[in-house]
Amino acid sequence: NTKKITVLGLGAMGTAIARAWLSAGYELTVWNRTVSRAEPLTTEGAKIAATAFDAVAASDLVVACLLDDASVGEVLADADLMGKDLVNITTSTPGKAGDRAEWAAGRGARYLDGGIMAVPPMIGDLDSGAYVFYSGSPELFAAHRDALAVPAATRYVGEDSGSAALHDVALLSAMTGMFAGVSHAFALMRGTEVAPKEFAALLIEWLTAMAPYANGVAAHLETGDYTLGVTSNLEMMVEANGTLLRTAEEQGVSPELLSPFMTLMERRLADGHGDEGTTGVIDLLLR
Ligand code: NDP
Repeated sequence: NTKKITVLGLGAMGTAIARAWLSAGYELTVWNRTVSRAEPLTTEGAKIAATAFDAVAASDLVVACLLDDASVGEVLADADLMGKDLVNITTSTPGKAGDRAEWAAGRGARYLDGGIMAVPPMIGDLDSGAYVFYSGSPELFAAHRDALAVPAATRYVGEDSGSAALHDVALLSAMTGMFAGVSHAFALMRGTEVAPKEFAALLIEWLTAMAPYANGVAAHLETGDYTLGVTSNLEMMVEANGTLLRTAEEQGVSPELLSPFMTLMERRLADGHGDEGTTGVIDLLLR
């Protein structure tokens, strides 16, 4: 159970994470390419390393929170990782995370990849709902789970190093769809007398009520029966899409955020699946 940690990268996220460890009494060595961003942390007890090489040498547990995978490669190019535990919480793709894991193993380090499900203000606040997906070395995770749980809760999602990034990106992708829907809805309401704040409350209530849709999809995928428990079938929904599109037209709002999903629903209907929900769209996406 180490109390010594090195943090590489003090952007908004790296700084929040470093602060959480400092206030929990961990002995921190930090390094940032732009040293002025590291300096404020010295008053909170952090030691600044002159180089990334020195920073890595200072602790057995090394945490990288950099911009992207390329910057991780650059920063650690000359570092001696032999015997180190490298935790990389830089956002990446599953493929790049897997490559980075092999690269780390080749240099004698145990490797854990992380995907942060939080924004910086949520870090260190254990009631915020913040957590980090981790995947990779189970031994590394077991050895440092207490330390890792200080900035945010932890969710270990398997030995495959790419798993954390895949979970992270899958959730962010779902969020992107939600952002698209919210954008379209506000566009429809623009120019009306409804205050955006008032409409936001309705949106939150509705989206929350609709969120269990994911359970229905899961049941379809698990049973292979895409009609199971369907109360709004595809035939009816494609019909309703027409109303959504005509309303967009009436309100002078482009349908471009809605159309791609609707097109897939229509294709699935045309394939003869009018009694299903929307789960069949997933099959159309796989290539
Ligand atoms: P910032 O843009 O605030 O910081 C980026 C960090 O990367 C800085 O420390 C920067 O150094 C460093 N950096 C960038 N390029 C290089 C390079 N070539 N060599 C050395 N250092 C480099 O980003 P965040 O701190 O917000 O994000 C860090 C990671 O956390 C990212 O992978 C991000 O996706 C992830 N994350 C962030 C969230 C957020 O809300 N902020 C949410 C979830 C994940 P310098 O100061 O010198 O520019």
